[in-house]
Amino acid sequence: MLIDGHGRIIDYVRLAVTDRCNLRCFYCMPEEGIDFVQRKELLSYEEIIRVVTLLSEEGVSKVRITGGEPFLRKDIMSLLRSISELPLIDKIAITTNGTLTEKHLDELVVLGIDSFNLSIDSIDAQRFQEITRRDSFETVWSCYKVMLAKGLELKLNCVVMANRNIADLIPMVELGRKSKVSIRFIEEMPFNGEGSHYQRLEWDYAKILSHLTEHFGEVEKLQDTQGSTSLNYRVPGFTGSFGIIPAYTRSFCGSCNRLRLTPDGTIKTCLYDDGVFNIKNIIRAGATDAELMLAIKEAIAHKAKDGFVAEQSRNGKGIVSESMATIGG
Ligand code: SAM
Ligand code: SF4
Repeated sequence: MLIDGHGRIIDYVRLAVTDRCNLRCFYCMPEEGIDFVQRKELLSYEEIIRVVTLLSEEGVSKVRITGGEPFLRKDIMSLLRSISELPLIDKIAITTNGTLTEKHLDELVVLGIDSFNLSIDSIDAQRFQEITRRDSFETVWSCYKVMLAKGLELKLNCVVMANRNIADLIPMVELGRKSKVSIRFIEEMPFNGEGSHYQRLEWDYAKILSHLTEHFGEVEKLQDTQGSTSLNYRVPGFTGSFGIIPAYTRSFCGSCNRLRLTPDGTIKTCLYDDGVFNIKNIIRAGATDAELMLAIKEAIAHKAKDGFVAEQSRNGKGIVSESMATIGG
């Protein structure tokens, strides 16, 4: 078992398989993109499988594939097929922007991959385009409809932004009136390739919740699952639910169960740290499985107590300003 210095069990790994993306969500990366990782610097599929296999032997049972946009990585389905064959991995989930996903859904379901976080920050085509800087709303909406029709475990990720998509909050919760979908409102974090957009985050967890309860009245608090980052609610009588992720407020760190692997092989033990070590470098220097595991365990043992401590201990890169596409959310 992987246990950190604060007694938290690490059983979940998030793999950002690429930092490239075909959208340019303004809260994630600048219009001109970022300094993308060179192909040879990407962790190869073979290297990813080796690391995930080792982690699974130490108790990691859940994998999330994210990015950048995971379906932009060449032959991503072959990686997903391989991960789905790992005997100790019980759950594979994917976070995607839905632009390239729909055509893979049938095969994904056959592989047992039926848990998706679909990012959609507005259900108004014009606002969607202003936020993502691309004209892809219809494609993403079609993907949403197909996911729903297939009965997949579906969460919609919506980053809440002052002056951008506040008008969407209520219509998005309304999607759950008759559909089994969970809308997750995420506090905006400064991971946008430029630095913070705000002096102070106005649309935090409390403000989002009060905006929704003003409209819907009393909402029912749902039981949060172990390691969940969202506080979940249901409007009485609705089929679906909604959650709020205090990603900036960081009130969920006490139950954190995750480890992150970035596209170039950097191991992160906290979203807010600036990387603990690069596993690709030690793999390519010939490390044995035992040496890899020792390095991972050492990193986990020193996992920061919370995101504030991790942010304060960033060395070199100073304040948070890298793109979320290099971290995977
Ligand atoms: N491209 C895929 C997508 O958008 O779903 C996967 C990668 S994206 C980095 C993962 C999640 O991080 C998305 O739901 C996105 O909305 C969220 N995200 C990106 N930048 C963020 C930021 N600055 N603050 C909060 N969430 C952010
Ligand atoms: Fe791309 Fe996802 Fe970042 Fe948007 S949030 S730019 S879709 S990686």
